[in-house]
Amino acid sequence: MVTSRTGTAMWKNLRSAVLRDAQRDGVTACPSCHRPLFFGQRRRGEYRPDHAEVDHIVPRELGGRDVRENLRVLCADCNKRRRGRERRVPTLNGRPALRVSRQWGPGTIPSPPSRGS
Ligand SMILES: [Zn+2]
Repeated sequence: MVTSRTGTAMWKNLRSAVLRDAQRDGVTACPSCHRPLFFGQRRRGEYRPDHAEVDHIVPRELGGRDVRENLRVLCADCNKRRRGRERRVPTLNGRPALRVSRQWGPGTIPSPPSRGS
């Protein structure tokens, strides 16, 4: 099974192919917010909200794969917004609101079924 993450050569190739195809297909604006996209190179460390980025339609966290059918071009701003929403964990007073509750105290954990010998 092939697993790939951002930073691999495969992903870079895929990413540039998606951007190339978008330009070939005449995509000039973000499909989400319709701002004109910038397909050029950014300077090192520069953040451009209109920079064309490749977005996973189904996020990796939800099982989305690094395949062309699951990728599209979005502006950096929309891409960031999507990621922020999907990765945010509800917090309560600065701590994660979702906690594993331990309902079973010591002594209440059921013993594993004994294996008959
Ligand atoms: Zn956008």
